[in-house]
Amino acid sequence: MTDWLVDAVMLPDGTEPGSRWLTSSGWTEQRVPDAVALPGRFALPGLVDAHSHVSFSDGDGALVFVDRSGAEAHRERYARDGVAIVRDAGGAPDVVLSLPRTAGRPFVVAAGRHLAPPGMYFEGVHLPVEADDVVEVALGDLAAGATWAKLVADFPSAAARALGPGAAPEQTYDLDVVRRLIDAVHGAGGRVAAHVTTPLASALVSLGIDSIEHGTALDEATVDEMAARGTAWTPTLCAVLSAAPDAPPERLRVVADRRERFTHLLPYAIARGVPVLTGSDVVGTIPREIALLVECGVAPGDALRAATASAMRFLGADAEVAPASVVTYEADPRDDPEVVRQPAAVVIGGVLVR
Ligand SMILES: [Zn+2]
Repeated sequence: MTDWLVDAVMLPDGTEPGSRWLTSSGWTEQRVPDAVALPGRFALPGLVDAHSHVSFSDGDGALVFVDRSGAEAHRERYARDGVAIVRDAGGAPDVVLSLPRTAGRPFVVAAGRHLAPPGMYFEGVHLPVEADDVVEVALGDLAAGATWAKLVADFPSAAARALGPGAAPEQTYDLDVVRRLIDAVHGAGGRVAAHVTTPLASALVSLGIDSIEHGTALDEATVDEMAARGTAWTPTLCAVLSAAPDAPPERLRVVADRRERFTHLLPYAIARGVPVLTGSDVVGTIPREIALLVECGVAPGDALRAATASAMRFLGADAEVAPASVVTYEADPRDDPEVVRQPAAVVIGGVLVR
């Protein structure tokens, strides 16, 4: 494979430019002959998308599963943004777990299917799981190659959604079921991520959940507990702060309330040491997620860390086996996060993507 010379300020912490080489065996500061110089004056290791869905798409307003080639198209799109690692936060295990390691495309850390009973997740992308089967199904997905399980801890029921938008989420499984799930997955060496948008998050953190997804109803006390336990938070701002210009006033009010809450809680969580992670979910991108973190009061360096070092550290062994990658920019994204939208170069696993 090609060896690459990166002559740039290494972000998020660097101040002076320096030369480093990216080879098939990783980074080195020893000069590598015949390396090809990458353009760009600022560099990040490859970005991490800690909450994405490789196996589904937004098809005319309803989520639908895609096949293997659709999933590969998603991976190609993430790669062009400089994303080198994707944690798939639930989907179709037969598609997600069949994706090969491919140079030039992000490495996929897989959760299995969304664990939610019938009627308690988006029907087009849901393989329902009754409470009695949750542990067995989660362990089956782990045995097939997943390293995470994805719990949908609360969701508006199909009956409530049928009445119109704005349906309130309801708890999906009793907490003793959730406890058994967490214990069983931990026992098998995996971790559990939870979709949660109500104050139920507090109980999940106490039970040892590993990451809170969305977390739109988190509070300071729960964030303190997350800091003590090392629980991560993927706020998925692109998803939870999205509203069409013609959205009903109720939706606009929900989004405005969330934005206010996040503008307090995200800097608070980062100051307490909670691993805050960038996740694009179905509707977003990691560059946009970084910009939204900054809009919510997170320091630009911390926002870049949420997309790189914090996420790598939190993913641990999952990240260690990912391919060495780099994304470069002509300007400093700490001065203007919008810079992240336009990489000068992206290399994933040795292959120049752009
Ligand atoms: Zn999601």
